[in-house]
Amino acid sequence: MSPDRARLTIDLDALAHNRAVLADVARGAEVAAVVKADGYGLGAGPIARRLHAEGTRSFFVARLAEGEAVRAALGDRDATVYVLDGLLPGGADRLAAARLTPVIATVPQAAAALARATAANAAGGRYQVALQVDSGMNRQGLSLAEARALTGAPGGLRALDVGLVMSHLGSATDPAEPRNLEQLARFREIRALFPDARASLAASAGAFLGHDYAYDMVRAGICLLGGGPQELPHPRLKAVATLTAPILDIRHLSPGDRVGYGSGFTAPRPMRVAIVGAGYTDGVIRAGMGKGYAWAAGARRALLTVNMDLLTIDLGPGQAGVGDAVELLGPNVALDDVASAAGTVAHEVLTRISTRAERVYLSGV
Ligand SMILES: *Cc1c(COP(=O)(O)O)cnc(C)c1O
Repeated sequence: MSPDRARLTIDLDALAHNRAVLADVARGAEVAAVVKADGYGLGAGPIARRLHAEGTRSFFVARLAEGEAVRAALGDRDATVYVLDGLLPGGADRLAAARLTPVIATVPQAAAALARATAANAAGGRYQVALQVDSGMNRQGLSLAEARALTGAPGGLRALDVGLVMSHLGSATDPAEPRNLEQLARFREIRALFPDARASLAASAGAFLGHDYAYDMVRAGICLLGGGPQELPHPRLKAVATLTAPILDIRHLSPGDRVGYGSGFTAPRPMRVAIVGAGYTDGVIRAGMGKGYAWAAGARRALLTVNMDLLTIDLGPGQAGVGDAVELLGPNVALDDVASAAGTVAHEVLTRISTRAERVYLSGV
């Protein structure tokens, strides 16, 4: 391990713990794992393998190439890997080769799936798909009217082997939002069109909205990784990702001394600051400067500046020296706090951590 690099430690026991919490919250619904974007930047392979060992059998990715990577990482383990982008032109053979299940999301995709299904049936096989129907997010999925028309038409969706019908909530992080109930009502209609399919509406946040939202499967991403369902730290979830970087120098500032570029930070009083070997290149979001905190010498320390390769924290009287690790994200620096300080969401905080931070896995399989 290099002493000078930022380090991203991924605690797979914490991941297993969070999975158990979600299984408890979802009360009987399957907890599928969303490992798109390389497992939110933490490594889809190690995450998928550990979750499989914990009992996870359904995985979701966004892109086809992500699905191929997850299938390769899982080897011959039995699992369904769903691709949310669905069946895009030119993708069918690659999906089949990697045994990936497309989540059909548009009318042209449904037509392409029917063509594949007809060919598969003629050869005595099956072509299983999942189907996404929009329940009010207006982003991905067939409209309810399209789904109705297609199921009504002869040779339409009824001829498809739909194993899973799903939709996605747009406001689940706010339980008081009326849109949640509107989407739930819309999903009941969607679900009724496919009585034989399994059904899934909730992602992480939705899983915490109550049992009505759980259906047969919740699709969990951020809560598996320790992000709270309401964009606040949740007492039952543990940090999976810990980002640390070494102190490179400790400096004393006089009142009026400025740190870094422009007027990034001006010392209001005599201060002791630590210069830390990480910056926005590593994924520490620059917008968090002046608002966020780090953890050093056993206490929270204000994050004063974030530049490309270096950041500074207010060390105060903290007993720390050159080479000591500063925690920038982890058990003492909550993911949701980092996100809100930077004006973003936990998903973006994790996916921004770059490959310059060296990955270390705890308790893999
Ligand atoms: C990303 C995604 C999820 C997982 O969302 P989290 O908030 O990370 O739990 C679930 N379903 C769909 C359709 C998604 O795009």
